[in-house]
Amino acid sequence: MQLVWLRSDLRVHDNTALAAAAARGPCVAVYLTSPAQWRTHDDAPCKIDFWLRNLATLSAALDELNIPLLIRDAAQWSQAPQVLLTLCRELNVDAVHVNEEYGVNESRRDTEVARTLADHGIAFHSYLDQLLFKPGTILTRTGTYFQVFSQFRKVCYSRLHLSLPGLVPSPVRQAPVGIASDPVPTQIDGFAPPSQALRALWPAGETEARRRLETFVDQHIDYYQSERDFPAKPGTSQLSAYLATGVVSPRQCLHAALQANQGEFESGNVGTVTWINELLWREFYKHILVGFPRVSRRRAFRPETEALPWRNAPEELAAWKQARTGLPIIDAAMRQLLETGWMHNRLRMVVAMFLTKNLLIDWREGERFFMQHLIDGDLAANNGGWQWSASTGTDASPWFRIFNPLSQSEKFDREGRFIRHWLPELNDLDKQQVHNPNRQGSLFGAADYPPPIVDLAQSRARALSAFRNLPARQDATLQMSDEQRT
Ligand code: FAD
Repeated sequence: MQLVWLRSDLRVHDNTALAAAAARGPCVAVYLTSPAQWRTHDDAPCKIDFWLRNLATLSAALDELNIPLLIRDAAQWSQAPQVLLTLCRELNVDAVHVNEEYGVNESRRDTEVARTLADHGIAFHSYLDQLLFKPGTILTRTGTYFQVFSQFRKVCYSRLHLSLPGLVPSPVRQAPVGIASDPVPTQIDGFAPPSQALRALWPAGETEARRRLETFVDQHIDYYQSERDFPAKPGTSQLSAYLATGVVSPRQCLHAALQANQGEFESGNVGTVTWINELLWREFYKHILVGFPRVSRRRAFRPETEALPWRNAPEELAAWKQARTGLPIIDAAMRQLLETGWMHNRLRMVVAMFLTKNLLIDWREGERFFMQHLIDGDLAANNGGWQWSASTGTDASPWFRIFNPLSQSEKFDREGRFIRHWLPELNDLDKQQVHNPNRQGSLFGAADYPPPIVDLAQSRARALSAFRNLPARQDATLQMSDEQRT
C-alpha cells in the first residue's frame, strides 16, 4: 500500500506526490490536523476554514478515484512521526509520498518523519511540487543563494528556455481498497469560522481555481501590467489563496499564461510577462526561506537593521489594526483585510510601509497580524513582503524611499472608489477631499472619521533619521537592484 500525505497541495490534478503514489498503487491519502501547530504559526481562522473546505471537495474528488482520504490528528508536528507510523502499520504501507514544504519547522518535521519511518523499513519520498525550481538549484556562480530578484529571475529564465516543468498526469481510478474515507471536520476548536460573506468570496475546490485562472488569462492578463496597481479594479488574478493551499499549482499557472502568449515568458504580451514575473517573486521568497533560514525565525534578513529603535506604541498599533488611523487609504485597506481575508498587493505595501516607517513599529507586529488574518497567508511571501516594506529584507525597498500614503492614494485610487467602498462614512466627499478628510483647517472633515494619528512629514523624518543612524548601516544604494517598485 502507498500513502500520500497531503499538506499544502490540496488538488488531484498536477499533484506530483499523489501521481507517484497512485502510479505505484494501490494508494490511500491522509491529512493531519495540527491545531496547536497552526496556532504557533499564527494561521488565520479563515485560512483554516479554507483548508477544511478544500479538503472536503478534495475528499469527494479522491472518492471518484477510489482513493480514501483519512484524517488524523497530530496537534503538534512533533507528534507527526508517531501518528504516521501507527497509520502505516495499520494499513501495511510500504512508502509515504509527500510534496516538499520549505519552512524550518516543516523541514524538521519531515526529517523526523522520514527517520522514524526508515527505522521501521518504510520509505519516505518527497517531491518538488510547490515551486518551479528546487531551492538550491538556482544559485550564483559562486554557489550561493541570490539576494537580488532580477539576477535570480535571469537564471530562472535561462532554465525555462532549456526545459519547461511539465504537468504531471492525473491519477486513474484504482480498484476499491475497502477503506472508508473519514469525514472532514467542518470546524477546528479555537479557529472561529468566518462569515458566510467571506466564504462566498473564496469558493473551495479545483474547479473554482481553474475557473479563476482561465478567466484571468482570457480577460485580464493582457491588461495586468497597467491595471494591477489599482485596488478598485479587478486587475489581479486573486489566486493567491488557491496557490498557497495548493488547490492550483504554479506549473498550471505558468502553462496557462504561456498559452496566452505563444509560449513566450520573456517577451510578447507585457501583461503576461509581468504576471509570470510575480510567480517568480513567489519562487524567489521561498528560495530565500531555505537559503537564509533566519528569516523563518523572526530575524531580519539584514542583521544591521535589528538595531532599529522600533517604537512601543500600542495605541497606534491598535489604530492600525482596527482601521482607524485617520488615513482613508490605510483604513480602507485594513477593512478589506478584516472583511475579506485578502488585501490588494499595492495596499499591502502601503500599509506595511506606513506601519514600519511612519509609525516606526516593528515589522514583526505587522507580519504577525497579516498572518492572523490572511486567507493566503504564506510565511515566505508574507515575510518577504514585510521585510521589503520595512527595508530590512533582501532586495528591499531602499530605506530612504518612503511611500507617502496620501500620494499613493491619489495615484492609485484617483476617484476614491476603493476608499468609498470600504469607508462609506466618506461617501459624501468628493475625489479631492476623500483622500484626506481631516486636513488641518479644512471645512470638509467627516464627522464620523478620526483625524490622522500621525503627522506624515514629521514621522517620515523620524524614520529617515532612525535608518540613517543605524550603527553598521551598509550603503543601501549599493545594494539596490536595477528593478525597484515605486
Ligand atoms: P497576482 O498579482 O495575480 O499574482 C499572481 C500570484 O503571484 C499570486 O497569487 C502570488 O502567489 C504570487 N505573487 C504575486 N506577488 C507576489 C509577491 N510580491 N511575493 C510573492 N508572491 C507573489 N502573498 C501571499 O501569497 N501570501 C502572503 O502572505 C503575502 N503577504 C504579503 C505581505 C506584504 C506586506 C506584501 C507587500 C505582499 C504580500 N504578498 C503575499 C504578495 C502579494 O501581495 C500577494 O501574493 C497578491 O496580492 C495576491 O493577489 P493575487 O493572487 O491577485 O496576485
